[in-house]
Amino acid sequence: MKRFSVKSKLTLLLTALAAVVAILIFSLLLFISSSVSVSSSMAALSDTARKNASLISMENGKLAFDDSFSFYHHGITTLIYSKSKALVAGQPPVNFSFSDDFQNGTVRTVPSDDTSYLVADIYLPFGWDDGVWIRALSEAPDNGRIAADITFVFFIIFPVFLLLAALGSYLIVKLSFRPLDKISRTVSAINEAKDLSGRIGLKGNDEFSRLSDAFDGMFERLERSFDAEKQFTSDASHELRTPLAVIKSACEYAEKFDETAEERRETIEMIHRQANKMSELINQLLNITRLDQGTEKLSIADVELGSLVHSLCCEQGYDINRLHIQAQKGVFVSGDSMLLSRLIKNLVDNGFKYGKESSCVWITVYKNEDEALISVRDDGIGIADEYKEKIWQRFYQVDASRGEDSGIGLGLFMVQQIARAHGGYVTLDSTLGIGSEFILHLPLRK
Ligand code: ADP
Repeated sequence: MKRFSVKSKLTLLLTALAAVVAILIFSLLLFISSSVSVSSSMAALSDTARKNASLISMENGKLAFDDSFSFYHHGITTLIYSKSKALVAGQPPVNFSFSDDFQNGTVRTVPSDDTSYLVADIYLPFGWDDGVWIRALSEAPDNGRIAADITFVFFIIFPVFLLLAALGSYLIVKLSFRPLDKISRTVSAINEAKDLSGRIGLKGNDEFSRLSDAFDGMFERLERSFDAEKQFTSDASHELRTPLAVIKSACEYAEKFDETAEERRETIEMIHRQANKMSELINQLLNITRLDQGTEKLSIADVELGSLVHSLCCEQGYDINRLHIQAQKGVFVSGDSMLLSRLIKNLVDNGFKYGKESSCVWITVYKNEDEALISVRDDGIGIADEYKEKIWQRFYQVDASRGEDSGIGLGLFMVQQIARAHGGYVTLDSTLGIGSEFILHLPLRK
């Protein structure tokens, strides 16, 4: 059975099932036909005996038969016996051996020589002494012959039935497996072409559609994770090139020229800064990729945003003269406090980074009917309208020439990702030269 496909196995099983059902029906037919033929013969016999009994009368001490009385009718012989069981009228069949076991009103089988007979007796009491027995008899139906006939027909019909059953089963199995064929063809095509954008897309709500949905979901996830991996590799190699080039040329310069101790210290500091930048870049890229892929599991808990903001600002040691916090109490969300802190930190850092000299940052925590909100506002350089869309893209910087204090263009991208991962979003309101306000909208804790 191992060599056979599932289709062949199912076809065989269904055909076998049909064969078993046919054999069962055949056996039932045999049983029913034999019992039906015996009982219908018995009923006919009993009817004839009664009918004939009603056609006999006693006139002047003699039996009188009505005109419609018949001693032999449709294979049923009627015999008349005296009360003392002597044959008075009628001709018994040649091979019927007389049975003196008369039973009034019953029909029974009486074995006789080589055949069995069905016998029905009725006693007619004419006066006290002159009663007669009416005996109707017919050959018992030959069950063996009926069975042989049915078996003969069965053996002619059975192979044709089996063939049709096999054909029907094959068609049913083929039709039922069509969606599975589609699934395996699509999966093979995706596998061969190494193109994860293909989808099976079976419609409906049966097992195959659910399997197809599961596969499509898996391809979707795989595609996203491959894309994220590709993006990560290309982003990382692209962005690491600049600090690496700086480090390389600083080393070459230091090798070529005799540097003073002071110059060497500056070179080392610069290399240190570039190395830090590289490590921050790699960390951020990893975080972004994990969030992208959904592999960074959110550890969701109840977070009180006011406390979160206060403890974050305390940890970061921001200048309290330039940072103003106003937090409504009891604004709870369900979220990952580490990621939310990272989001707020990015916004506050930007507020200071893109502020004017000694400009301030205001953080306000509040809520409305169904949202928790954190506003991070600054009175810094502001963002021109044309950049308001672009700044959310990864690695996008309005002014990439800000030198070493410029970021790497991943902060706002990550802000947006974290907000989305929490079912929220961030809005921006900014005026060039006046300042910017980023507002984080999160669903309130249920
Ligand atoms: P990075 O700060 O590392 O450059 P971000 O993704 O955080 O990257 O920001 C993208 C760009 O958006 C920044 O380069 C900057 O030009 C602009 N930007 C972000 N926040 C502010 C802000 N508060 N004020 C003015 N410009 C901002």
